[in-house]
Amino acid sequence: MRVLLVEDDELLGSAVQAGLEQSGYTVDWLRDGAHAAAALQVDEPDLLVLDLGLPGRDGLAVLRDLRARGSSLPVLLLTARDTVEDRVAGLDAGADDYLVKPFDLGELTARLRAIARRRGGRASPVIRHGDLEFDPAARVVTVDGAQVSLPARALAILEALLERPGMPLSRERIETILYGWGEGVESNAVEVHIHHLRKKLGKDRIRTIRGLGYMIPKA
Ligand code: CA
Repeated sequence: MRVLLVEDDELLGSAVQAGLEQSGYTVDWLRDGAHAAAALQVDEPDLLVLDLGLPGRDGLAVLRDLRARGSSLPVLLLTARDTVEDRVAGLDAGADDYLVKPFDLGELTARLRAIARRRGGRASPVIRHGDLEFDPAARVVTVDGAQVSLPARALAILEALLERPGMPLSRERIETILYGWGEGVESNAVEVHIHHLRKKLGKDRIRTIRGLGYMIPKA
């Protein structure tokens, strides 16, 4: 899952980036609110973690712009302004959740998983698909109760497909989920991961939809 982190504090930003990456997220990190607003107009991530006090453009203004143009992108606010008014303003501007600094990285990832669940219309913390189960917190996949070990990037693709059963994901979309904006992508990386997933999970688990990409059928 791809997170855009917008945070101007270098120490906090690098800690959050490292923590989220360790939890299986691909993280793009911007330090400036105006840059973030521009980037969001071009390409939306799966989740936005947004500081309120930012250079360039205030976090609340970035959030209001997003909602004004009808974006349903899930947003978690980070705020140092420990006042009730700021939190209320943030939630009323369309944030899904917030954390007051300083916060625990474990709590941040748990809240992001909760937001992803709500977005996917799930109450259960585990994603089920037939005999397959995926636990996003533990990053564990089982088939018929037996654990299947998968590399982190293959797991990220599986998670993205499981979040949207019946909806094809293009190779380009999968590449941004895996690598974000910055890193170079090996040209056949996605095919290699899909091949690996099919080998481990059964070849019919993931379908190739010609011209559209890859899809896990609705269970
Ligand atoms: Ca700040």
